[in-house]
Amino acid sequence: MTIKKTLLPENELKPLSKDPLQLGFGQTYTDHMFTLEYDSEKGWHNAEIKPYQSLKLDPAAKVLHYGQEIFEGQKAYKSSSGEILTFRPKENANRFLNSQKRMCMAELDPDEFLFYENELLKVEERWIPTVKGTSLYIRPTAIATESGLGVKASTKYLFFIILSPVGAYFKEGFNPIGLWVSDEFSRAAEGGTGEAKAGGNYAGSLFASNIANENGYSQVLWLDAKEHKYIEEVGAMNILFIIDNKLVTAPLGGTILPGITRKSVLELAKDLGIETVERKISIDEVTEGIESGKVTEIFGAGTAAVISPVGKLNYKEKEYVINDNKTGPWSQKFFDTLTGIQYGELEDKHNWVYKVK
Ligand SMILES: *Cc1c(COP(=O)(O)O)cnc(C)c1O
Repeated sequence: MTIKKTLLPENELKPLSKDPLQLGFGQTYTDHMFTLEYDSEKGWHNAEIKPYQSLKLDPAAKVLHYGQEIFEGQKAYKSSSGEILTFRPKENANRFLNSQKRMCMAELDPDEFLFYENELLKVEERWIPTVKGTSLYIRPTAIATESGLGVKASTKYLFFIILSPVGAYFKEGFNPIGLWVSDEFSRAAEGGTGEAKAGGNYAGSLFASNIANENGYSQVLWLDAKEHKYIEEVGAMNILFIIDNKLVTAPLGGTILPGITRKSVLELAKDLGIETVERKISIDEVTEGIESGKVTEIFGAGTAAVISPVGKLNYKEKEYVINDNKTGPWSQKFFDTLTGIQYGELEDKHNWVYKVK
């Protein structure tokens, strides 16, 4: 695994943004990127770290027509002693492989994935913001690059990694967001590609997201595709509920993205002394539970926002307010504990933090 490195001279590096808290999400990119090519003869080859630049693609490249594309989302943090930290990166590398398999793409060994990612992070170390609440977002991606209009799996791929210094994912920051429950559209059906982090899943979700936004809600809460009855997840987060003082979430069943934050929250719950239940949750149970006081908190869990408290739900043109539209104690606790571990401030009992350098 050797990487050809073509790095910019010091005087051509971009200036860092002055206030990392104002960064928003995924709007600026670092100086360099990683690329790796695949074809059936050579396998994966041409590993390069080079200046951030446009890709050159044939207009008939399969990704542009049939959407063979997958990605990951991770974050790198800087500890107070200057170490570069990532969070459970093997989970991302393994999930990337699973997404590649589901989309019939060339498979990248998880150890190689991590090696390349770490090398790029070391090159771009100066871009990792140090203010709490900020991080360097990592976007590993694979696309089908073979040109040809026949509908079949590509024989050529490009794997690349770009990095983006980020602040809060939602404009609300760590404050409650509103969700729009879609009883009309679906994100993923049984037997479909919902558990792969594949671009097409997101393209298909934009129409309902726009409806949510037009109505003043920031994300869609998806229900199952068959009956539009059971809770699935949010656009880029899994969703968890505090019901009767238990932490309840939908089971992974092929239609839900297996989130690493979700998994970590379920594991942390044991340390924090709250019982966890993975079971089907109907939307009626949620709305009735909000009204009766059985559902005391709702929050999303995903790498981008970490924990995102939910203050409002709109279902069938009725608005339900959760916990007075305030951040609840469990949302706060999971947020503080997870981010504390991620920034290297709290004890890492589960060995989740990986030291890149
Ligand atoms: C990425 C993603 C999540 C969250 O996964 P994490 O591993 O926690 O970042 C949840 N749902 C969807 C649809 C996603 O794309």
